[in-house]
Amino acid sequence: METKETVTETNNENKAVSNFIRFIIDRDLESGKHTGVVTRFPPEPNGYLHIGHAKSICLNFGLARDYKGRCHLRFDDTNPVKEDVEYVDSIMDDVRWLGFDWQDHLYYASDYFEKLYGFAEYLIEQGKAFVCDLSFDELRAYRGTLTVPGKNSPYRDRSIEENLRLFRAMRDGEYPDGSHSLRAKIDMNSPNLNMRDPVIYRIKKTQHHRTGSIWQIYPMYDYTHCISDALEGITHSICTLEFEDHRPLYDWFLDQLPIPCHPQQIEFARLNLSYTVMSKRLLLELVTTGLVKGWDDPRMPTIAGMRRRGFTASAIREFADRIGVAKASSMVDDELLMFCVREDLNKSALRTMVVMNPIKLTITNYAEDKTEELEADNNPEDESAGKRMVKFSRNLLIEREDFSENPPKGWFRLGLNNEVRLKHAYYIKCYEAVKDEQGEIIELLCTYDPESRGGGTEDGRKVKGTLHWVSAPHAVPVELRLYDRLFTMLDMSAIEEGKSYKDYLNPDSLIINKHAMAEATLRDVKVGERFQFLRQGYFSVDADSEAGKPVFNRIITLKDRWLAKAGKQ
Ligand code: ATP
Ligand code: MG
Repeated sequence: METKETVTETNNENKAVSNFIRFIIDRDLESGKHTGVVTRFPPEPNGYLHIGHAKSICLNFGLARDYKGRCHLRFDDTNPVKEDVEYVDSIMDDVRWLGFDWQDHLYYASDYFEKLYGFAEYLIEQGKAFVCDLSFDELRAYRGTLTVPGKNSPYRDRSIEENLRLFRAMRDGEYPDGSHSLRAKIDMNSPNLNMRDPVIYRIKKTQHHRTGSIWQIYPMYDYTHCISDALEGITHSICTLEFEDHRPLYDWFLDQLPIPCHPQQIEFARLNLSYTVMSKRLLLELVTTGLVKGWDDPRMPTIAGMRRRGFTASAIREFADRIGVAKASSMVDDELLMFCVREDLNKSALRTMVVMNPIKLTITNYAEDKTEELEADNNPEDESAGKRMVKFSRNLLIEREDFSENPPKGWFRLGLNNEVRLKHAYYIKCYEAVKDEQGEIIELLCTYDPESRGGGTEDGRKVKGTLHWVSAPHAVPVELRLYDRLFTMLDMSAIEEGKSYKDYLNPDSLIINKHAMAEATLRDVKVGERFQFLRQGYFSVDADSEAGKPVFNRIITLKDRWLAKAGKQ
């Protein structure tokens, strides 16, 4: 099963790389504006978390950890139409899996509905909010555009008493959805559209996953978010850049209301990753239309998908550290994420041998009834990983691609009459390739050198090629699921006109291999265990495995496209 990974100062190597947010916090602590740091991660429970959220989680919880403060997990559950407990549960699961802990600080914006309502009446009493009867379309028309100023609502000058009466009637369910709204009274001429008398409450006669049918009206995000932050004593409210234009509104609400706390909103650039999409709407569509097998499909950029695929939490945290935090929007190369995963697995994954595309290899000078147990190290990078015994016999399987009858120049693998090493075993030489009637090679006849046990000889002669193999009578058939990028286009925000993201789905994003054969030691693996299949890549045991019938996800290949691109390999 999953091993629990926790963030400690040491496994994170204390790489508190400075960034502009840390700079602001340091300044606030020095000046005495704050004595500690309180951050929050505020997901809306309308989908599963993705790698972009992981960036935000690592940032917010990471700051709390480094400044010995705290980070709240707060569900921003103000839209009952799209939200669901399934999402709440998955989000908590994913944050924990990433190695973070909100301790006692789990909150729901819906816990504040009563208070938010009270503050709305307060705004009405102060003449700062009014009930508006404009329809959704009229609201939009009155709002104006960046170049055209807005128009005051004809309902803007209602008396405080009338506003209170109407707002209470809205609350009591006397009006249908969309017929009335409560709006802040700010400035229809503001160059900032968010300040043009924004809606703060709308009528929605929908069951809420936590408050049931108590409420017929729901507060808007901008209104709810700043108040929730202030009620919880958040010091630094970190969000993505698209909220920069909402900051004046965030501040306006807190300036009007009698709450003795005013957090600072700080914006940073969201993560964009190449060859994938991160819009929750599109991710949901991929799931509901069956284009992927679920939110945890290993091709999805979701945390649940990456986790099922076999990515480690520490690799994702390392990725978040490496990409850093900036103000400017950019596209991160997905190979950087892969690089972090590979680096981490190289240290921890146990080595094993699996032949993906087998061909028979018979060692004709090896006794028919003999079986040997050969010692193999589990991880050359980590001696404490120990050794295992691998069965060897006369009848082996190797990769079909590892033999060539007419080898190209520089071929180190098996050919006729050239010697190669079988990993952890012996030197062998092939003397005949047996063919079927169609001329297809079906078996390789070889001899072995008994003196080369363990992969070396006294005479010190060198062989260049080393092949992985399995013993045919002992091998276990396994299913391999080989993943590639879900999309074929680097920048999925640059979809051509008239096309949809579906036109860019990679038809080869999942290839299933049902003829692979594995070392006998892989018969009894546990879901979530990770291995390096020698020369093939890193694999994890999928939840679809049955006793004695393992299913493996390829987490990643061995070849590093990122280092290669960076000119480092
Ligand atoms: P939407 O609001 O459209 O449903 P969202 O991606 O903003 O989608 P939220 O649940 O509101 O989803 O996000 C929770 C937090 O994660 C927010 O603070 C948001 O800024 C942050 N976040 C979301 N996407 C990214 C991303 N790609 N990179 C960094 N942070 C992100
Ligand atoms: Mg959001």
